[in-house]
Amino acid sequence: MELLKKTAVEQHKALVNKEVSALELTKASIERIEKLDKTLGAFNSTTFESAIETAKKVDQKIAKGETIPILAGIPTALKDNMNFIGSKTTCSSKILENFVSPYDATVTKKLKENLVPILGKANLDEFAMGSSNENSAFKIVRNPYNLNKVPGGSSGGSACSVSSCEVTLSLGSDTGGSIRLPASFCGIAGFKPTYGRVSRYGLVAFASSLDQIGPFGRCIEDITYLYETIAGYDEKDSTSLKLEVGNISSNLKRDIKGLKIGVIKELMAQGVDDDVKASVENAIKTYEKLGAKIKEISLPLLEHSIGVYYIVATAEASSNLARFDGVKYGFRAQNCENLLDMYCKTRAQGFGPEVKRRIMLGTYALSSGYYDAYYKKAQQLRRLIADDFKKAFEDVDILVSPTCPNTAFDLNSRADNPLAMYLTDIATISSNLVGAPALSMPIGFDKDKMPVGLQIIAKNLDELTLLQSAYALERELGVNTERPNI
Ligand code: GLN
Repeated sequence: MELLKKTAVEQHKALVNKEVSALELTKASIERIEKLDKTLGAFNSTTFESAIETAKKVDQKIAKGETIPILAGIPTALKDNMNFIGSKTTCSSKILENFVSPYDATVTKKLKENLVPILGKANLDEFAMGSSNENSAFKIVRNPYNLNKVPGGSSGGSACSVSSCEVTLSLGSDTGGSIRLPASFCGIAGFKPTYGRVSRYGLVAFASSLDQIGPFGRCIEDITYLYETIAGYDEKDSTSLKLEVGNISSNLKRDIKGLKIGVIKELMAQGVDDDVKASVENAIKTYEKLGAKIKEISLPLLEHSIGVYYIVATAEASSNLARFDGVKYGFRAQNCENLLDMYCKTRAQGFGPEVKRRIMLGTYALSSGYYDAYYKKAQQLRRLIADDFKKAFEDVDILVSPTCPNTAFDLNSRADNPLAMYLTDIATISSNLVGAPALSMPIGFDKDKMPVGLQIIAKNLDELTLLQSAYALERELGVNTERPNI
């Protein structure tokens, strides 16, 4: 159905004008998932029955002439690390293979309140650790623009499902770039809000001081609406911010004349593919044409962000993942001699190699004797990186860079080289370290017709300027309507 390829806002109009019913739209999405997902691998499980129930409720409201929320009836997917009662929440790990969500995450609850049909749980790198979705214990996800390439990770299934029009919207989580990188590789928009804007209650924790849930969509308006639907204070998450989210969707359109844009020098230097650089330069020229003031900004400590991240994230992960011991959740190893043996065998058999690597790294960094040399140093550097950003935002309103120095790479080309994989996130990781809101939006294609993404970062809590700036550029460049041909 052609309508599946449209944006959520267009689908909403079609619903209220009764050109299509919510049930028809949901069924079209189901059909497309059934047709494509054996190839794409974007879903770990589906929740079609609940989606159909929700769609029927939307139709009843429309029939009664009631107004419906903007995203009511719009087919949506959840990353498989968010709880949705009755559905499996596996984190793409064997250790949670049969774990059924006992409650709803706050984001799930909000989607339900807004009558958003949830079609299923999207594949990811195990426990959100990875940049290519090749670390899933179950299956890989393919890039819809080229089936031999990765979709990016860790929210690869969430990005792929929106890009391929299996669903219209999805949620991902971003600890070091896991929303923005796959958005960039799959030619869609993905947005990580300021740390604390969206409740993490019911999201399986990876690195709690960095994790943030955020939206995927095909245009800036769509991600703005989804952000507004899920954001806001939640007493169940102690890091959730008690602040007004504000109305961004009604204020997206803004004259950006005089907007001060900083181009991050270190991320435009060597190592960036020519085609990526050309698209980013074209986006910058477009901003200039719109009257923005462009300035080069240096963030000298950026080169340390990956090192800092892999200490902080692994330390937090080693502690968060201690709970998976065969007693409380999911998988338990058989034929064990005693309790300790059961712990060891459960974790040895249940976790994949990347997760084990991170638990070992994190445990090492936190152990007494090494704590000061690694963990403490990393936290000190994290503060200095935040100071760099603070200083930059005294001069400019937003920062821009490529989301990644390259476009989607071939399947299996980095899977055996963790360091090369870690470097993929050089542009995205620092915003998690400082908590800043950041997004990736499609701005063109490389010579092989793979999408290129622009990253925009704003200062903490300034989602308004971030989304306004992205919207202004999108209006000039046009929404990416070149959907993959599958
Ligand atoms: N690729 C990074 C990692 O492997 C970031 C993952 C994420 O944001 N969840 O940790």
